[in-house]
Amino acid sequence: MTVIRTELGDITSKHYADAIVNAANESLLGGGGVDGAIHRAAGPDLLTECRKLNGCKTGQAKITKAYRLPCDYVIHTVGPVWHGGIHGEAELLAGCYKHSLELATEHGIRSIAFPSISTGVYSYPVQQAAEIAVQTVRKVIEEYPDAFDEILWVLFDERTKLVYDGGLQKN
Ligand code: ADP
Repeated sequence: MTVIRTELGDITSKHYADAIVNAANESLLGGGGVDGAIHRAAGPDLLTECRKLNGCKTGQAKITKAYRLPCDYVIHTVGPVWHGGIHGEAELLAGCYKHSLELATEHGIRSIAFPSISTGVYSYPVQQAAEIAVQTVRKVIEEYPDAFDEILWVLFDERTKLVYDGGLQKN
């Protein structure tokens, strides 16, 4: 049984899971929002490791150690920038969740905490992002029913949390 849930908070502030997911950009060299918070909390060694990864394509994911963060790994994924929804945004966002979770299974990660990928600076509408996030996580769990103890979203504001909770309540 995999528990799926949300929590309000700062994903860097305490131990939520074996791995946290970073909503990175294609350079993997840090940025604003949750990416900036993760690099600040992890310390400079995270950037040193990220420099060796040669970036990451949108919809894909790469893994590093977590350094000073209270977890074992950081999975860096690059969400799509919202350009109106007719440029493959939904498939790319689903890819972020799918590839992050597949990478987690390869590393024996049994619990994973996601932020709301793409809904900050990348402007993806929260409702649509939440639907894709929940659907994709459920699909992966069907495929790997024994892999995860817990998959959660750590959401930075109450409004975003309400939207994800609504998505989880639907069937
Ligand atoms: P993106 O570029 O993928 O849109 P952002 O970091 O701009 O990524 O925003 C993604 C989401 O992460 C937003 O809902 C934002 O409020 C949230 N966020 C920002 N900082 C944190 C944090 N420290 N912990 C959890 N979520 C955060």
